[in-house]
Amino acid sequence: MDISVVVPLYNEEESLPELTAWIDRVMKAQNFSYEIILVDDGSKDRSWKIVEELKLQNPAIVGIKFRRNYGKSAALNVGFDAAKGDVVITMDADLQDSPDEIPELYDRIANRGADLVSGWKQKRYDPLTKTLPTKLFNAATRYMSDIHNLHDFNCGLKAYRKDVVKNIEVYGEMHRYIPVLAKWAGFTNIQEQVVQHYPRKYGTTKFGAGRFIKGFLDLLSIFFVGKFGKRPMHFFGTLGVLSFLTGFVITCYLIFDKLMSIAAGTAYRNITEQPLFFLSLVAILLGSQLFLTGFIAELISRNSVDRNNYQIESHI
Ligand code: UDP
Ligand code: MG
Repeated sequence: MDISVVVPLYNEEESLPELTAWIDRVMKAQNFSYEIILVDDGSKDRSWKIVEELKLQNPAIVGIKFRRNYGKSAALNVGFDAAKGDVVITMDADLQDSPDEIPELYDRIANRGADLVSGWKQKRYDPLTKTLPTKLFNAATRYMSDIHNLHDFNCGLKAYRKDVVKNIEVYGEMHRYIPVLAKWAGFTNIQEQVVQHYPRKYGTTKFGAGRFIKGFLDLLSIFFVGKFGKRPMHFFGTLGVLSFLTGFVITCYLIFDKLMSIAAGTAYRNITEQPLFFLSLVAILLGSQLFLTGFIAELISRNSVDRNNYQIESHI
């Protein structure tokens, strides 16, 4: 199979017939063999009924229904697990992304060496309250991830070589940082494609202002996990050893100072009465604690943690 299109959807009943018909047209015009994986992330409207109806008319449609709303990342992850195509394309369900981009996305992966192609909504039809923070996020992500050629990490329209989606785990709010996950996993040919973007046709956005705080925390955690996830001791241990050494050096100084003043016969305060003594005590204790934290983190990181814990209600 050439292409799997993975569509996460949450309360998108109005868009689905139009979206699948449009994808269908593009695929047939290009003679692609394909499937459309519609992942219903616990919709409360008639979305799943519509998926079932569409499936009856079109055997290329695969439907997966979650028991409840687990979030876009979980929906993408389950779609990635199910995908059979050589190239996997993700697309939002709300008709903001254009299926007309599929042939070029496919070509970049199949013929031009890309592991991942990320869409860039250069002309974006969203309110300024959303586009401005997004610009800041993208700048921070570029800086922290060392992927300098992407303008729009969170664009829902992306294409992947099959190996990429089978080797990354998308959880929490990580759907915003899939290119970063891919890069950490070793897929370095990351390209960008300017894509059409439309205003939302039906329904409303599913993400509120909390998205920015969650997104920022995920950015920090992805940075630390990427850098130190496999060896947390390298992070905590280094800080711990530095702190411990600082305390040790101060203590040595205090002892030396005391010995010198005894030798010189001058009056001298007790070591424990010196302000520096408390600093050295704090530094030594903090150092030991950081070292132990690193040790515990190291133990935990050796046991893989299953972060995705979702239940599939039906799979058609
Ligand atoms: N979505 C989802 N689960 C959620 C929230 C959103 O599967 O909990 C889907 C949603 O149906 C859409 C895509 O993720 O297909 C992007 O969501 P939305 O259009 O609301 O985001 P925006 O375009 O405002 O960033
Ligand atoms: Mg949208």
